[in-house]
Amino acid sequence: MKTIYVDNNATTKVDPQVVESMLPYFSELYGNPSSMHYFGGKVTYKIEEARAQVASLINASSEEIVFTSCGTESDSTAIHAAISSFPDKRHIVTSRVEHPAVKSLCEGLVKKGYRVTFVPVDRKGALDIDYLYDSLTDDTAIVSIMWANNETGVIFPIEEISNVVKQKGIPFHTDAVQAVGKIPVDVSQSSLDILSISGHKIHAPKGVGALFIRKGTPFSPFLIGGHQERGRRGGTENVVSIIGFGKASELAANHMGESLNRVRQLRDKLENELIKRIPNVLINGDNDNRLPNTASLSFEYVEGESILLMMDELGICASSGSACTSGSLEPSHVLRAMGVPFTAAHGSIRFSLSIYNTEEDIDFIIERLPPIIEHLRKLSPFWK
Ligand code: PLP
Repeated sequence: MKTIYVDNNATTKVDPQVVESMLPYFSELYGNPSSMHYFGGKVTYKIEEARAQVASLINASSEEIVFTSCGTESDSTAIHAAISSFPDKRHIVTSRVEHPAVKSLCEGLVKKGYRVTFVPVDRKGALDIDYLYDSLTDDTAIVSIMWANNETGVIFPIEEISNVVKQKGIPFHTDAVQAVGKIPVDVSQSSLDILSISGHKIHAPKGVGALFIRKGTPFSPFLIGGHQERGRRGGTENVVSIIGFGKASELAANHMGESLNRVRQLRDKLENELIKRIPNVLINGDNDNRLPNTASLSFEYVEGESILLMMDELGICASSGSACTSGSLEPSHVLRAMGVPFTAAHGSIRFSLSIYNTEEDIDFIIERLPPIIEHLRKLSPFWK
């Protein structure tokens, strides 16, 4: 059975060129970059090359990039750095639709006595920017707003928000894990201080991420240990993955045009055809302001998990907009924050494409999904 992989916001295939770039560093050039000898120096050279490649993808300078183990570590490090740099400030601003890497961290900080403002979004997933600006006070330690949403693909106006936040002298962090590599991200065009990236979302291996830390931003490391990463992140580097991440960043820059055009066309075809062929389908998220690869669709009166299981039997890998928590199927916090009706939120499926998807993949889904929905609706007591 062929696998139709349309779950690229969860993770991506490691590009064969990325694999090739990594291979020599497993068992031939395996030195520790902290070693003084020539053998370690060869590895240091490659890490610095990777740093420059990641920096170039977001138009930063190399010294502003710190490698981490994943997007989650980057987010945690950014927020902890701000609250430990400004220990007297006890207020954090974020949105209601952040990834758990930020959301759960902030909820944990509430338990430790921080006040957190979770800025709402509207029915299209757009951020209530006035609400955000009104929430800023002298006590605000950091504002952390994602660049693009992992479930709906909705893009927030990070350049505009970061400029206003910075004018008030408040540090600004963005979780750009889903944006980088899919749409142009240029840190020179905004006032953001700190930005999170994850390797496995851009065809690098899992277990590597990065932080952009603008020069001059107050920072303290989250992982304390050796002098790696110029003292900004202790621990021997995940050398092989960092090298792959560098290569993947170079490829992502080269493929940007394809991501913005061909992938978008495939995504639009998928949405348009499904809407044409299936009644009662909603697109979640602002149509004009979405990542080109992401489609979040709600099929009313059916359960997302049932759709996923039936698609899985055909080799189609997507994900649903609900989380199975303690036995009950709760729609995701993102769809709930957007006010998607319960009957629709339950039947939400996220399709997230990559440059590896083909027209045949999309045609396969377009042919196979309508009978699945029809079948499930016949079983639904709520379907007319
Ligand atoms: N932030 C966003 C928006 C994400 O989509 C993800 C992963 O899905 C993360 C953070 C976490 O990244 P990682 O899996 O590298 O920890």
